[in-house]
Amino acid sequence: MGDECVTVVEMSTGALEAADRADAVIQWLLDTGVIVPNPQRGNTWQPSGYLPGPQAPAAAPGFGDTDYTLANNGVEILVERELYRDTSPHKAPSCPECGYELAEATLEAMIRPWLDGPEPRVDCAGCGTARLLGEWPDGYVVGELAVRFNNWPPLSQAFLADLGARMGPRWRAIREQY
Ligand SMILES: [Zn+2]
Repeated sequence: MGDECVTVVEMSTGALEAADRADAVIQWLLDTGVIVPNPQRGNTWQPSGYLPGPQAPAAAPGFGDTDYTLANNGVEILVERELYRDTSPHKAPSCPECGYELAEATLEAMIRPWLDGPEPRVDCAGCGTARLLGEWPDGYVVGELAVRFNNWPPLSQAFLADLGARMGPRWRAIREQY
């Protein structure tokens, strides 16, 4: 069995603001006891900078009865411009208005431009609606700030909404499998 992560990505803040927000998010996660610093970060058993804290079940109720000593269930706060892609089985990105599906080649061709510059805007070939690439569901997102939860039970919707709001105005939860 591989590792499974949920990564919350903010895709509208610039690099400087992302760094500020990262500090605030870390402080909030520590203050609420959802995470604690990893005293031995970098080892293979627990490579992340933070580990589940005593209040982790408040964020992920499934923690309730399980022990916290699983390998690689730490939390990482990532502050660099990066592409995040849902690697769990999902549908092709389709227009919320008309259902038209974006071609994989179209998506691939816009990865580099988005990494190197502003978020591309894509016209739907079906109905003509223009929307930012990140607003197409089931695609990918580029963000300067992300919080990755490795091998956590599902995060509650309330926690996700609270965390996302602290990260910035446009965020997505991405599932990644390794
Ligand atoms: Zn459309």
